[in-house]
Amino acid sequence: MEVISIFDMLKIGVGPSSSHTLGPWRAGNRFILKAKRKFDLKECTSLQVELYGSLSLTGIGHATDIASALGLVGYDPTTYPTENLDAEIAEIKAREVLNFNGEVEVPFVWTENIRFNREFLPYHPNAVTFKATFQNGKTFKETFYSIGGGFVVQEERKRAKEKKELFQQFPFQVTKGADLLRFCKEENKTAYDIILTNELTLRSQEEIDKGIQDVWKVMLDSMYLGCHTEGILPGGLKVERRAFATHNKLIGNVPYSTPEEWLSSIRQTEVAFRQILKWVSCFALAVNEVNASLGRIVTAPTNGSAGVIPAVLMYYLCIENHSGNFEHIREFLLVAGQVGSIFKQGATISAAMGGCQAEIGVSSAMAAAGLTSLLGGNPGQILMAAEIAMEHHLGLTCDPIAGLVQVPCIERNAMGAIKAIQAAEMAIDGDAEKAKVSLDSVVQTMWQTAQDMNRKYKETSEGGLAVAVGLSDC
Ligand code: SF4
Repeated sequence: MEVISIFDMLKIGVGPSSSHTLGPWRAGNRFILKAKRKFDLKECTSLQVELYGSLSLTGIGHATDIASALGLVGYDPTTYPTENLDAEIAEIKAREVLNFNGEVEVPFVWTENIRFNREFLPYHPNAVTFKATFQNGKTFKETFYSIGGGFVVQEERKRAKEKKELFQQFPFQVTKGADLLRFCKEENKTAYDIILTNELTLRSQEEIDKGIQDVWKVMLDSMYLGCHTEGILPGGLKVERRAFATHNKLIGNVPYSTPEEWLSSIRQTEVAFRQILKWVSCFALAVNEVNASLGRIVTAPTNGSAGVIPAVLMYYLCIENHSGNFEHIREFLLVAGQVGSIFKQGATISAAMGGCQAEIGVSSAMAAAGLTSLLGGNPGQILMAAEIAMEHHLGLTCDPIAGLVQVPCIERNAMGAIKAIQAAEMAIDGDAEKAKVSLDSVVQTMWQTAQDMNRKYKETSEGGLAVAVGLSDC
């Protein structure tokens, strides 16, 4: 087993897709690093990008071409100023030149130098090949696979040994729910204690806290931005942003001028059951509207499902516990991250491998676990909450209309968040010892379902709503 940090499961990135945008972007960055070891990049004379399988079939809607190009320019997806994106891409297209790693301008005709191939490569459905040619006539070519959640690998998995060794340094090696439960019992510790102890072998407490602060800041900012931005989402489906109008109705006249003041102001609003549903939905919609417009979000564990975890955490801070603070945020995210890594190790977090159960289902399970921990649930109840949340997402297909991460994706985040809260409440009142289905059984079932699922429903836009509803209907 390889090491998975909490910060692998919660990565700062840009929309709209972790596997189709963030992954290819990082693959472009990785290609630069590898090419640099063998060639002087200033001598590059041409570049070619080949997208395969699901990266090709939903590549336009998921901005895979744009991400690949920006990766080759050498931009970091965690810090790139997303407000520059449209102008930058327009310039590459108009000038027909790409500035490879910011070192050399290479002729680049968008429609020729980025090719969409329907063919699938055998190793993984999400594949991208980059090829560079140099003045001496030599070429350098590498294929990368985007395996979900922004993770990028190559077939030979050169870093696998190193990652395995890091995992073996964990005092508590957790690959399954049963491992976590056993360590909690043996050590008489909470799930959070076990998870934090492991993470401390990778980075210091200060680094963990800084990382969590950064992640939470992006989550809060994306909720704030989405709730304060109106209009139509890009891509041609003409989907109207909805968080803005819902937020206007809910917030009333309470004053605020920053995301942090906004959070405090929401605490002052009256909330009955309907308002709670609307607030949670509004937070989730807001993040995924930002994601759909290629904005900055936290991949949690994917971009398509980026709204679930912030919405549930915001629910806790604004509605459930008005004294909620950084310690609660840290606990929530660490527990959620651990559950995400159990799904990644035992099944998949890639929609191209497992459909939407791998995205919304996993994010809902992660959020349910984090919330249950904050509500005082014992380790068994935390795992039970994750199991309940996934159990009711099993079989969920991925069928985004026009290949855009908008319909059904944005609403699905609201549903995943509400299910997570419901799963946490059921688990808190439940006896985990009497549960008929364990988390590990549901992980296994999800993986089996993923393997049985028709390829049409795995992020290809060749089945489901994607074919029932065409652009002409919108
Ligand atoms: S349908 Fe689900 S898995 Fe597919 S792109 Fe949308 S959110 Fe992601």
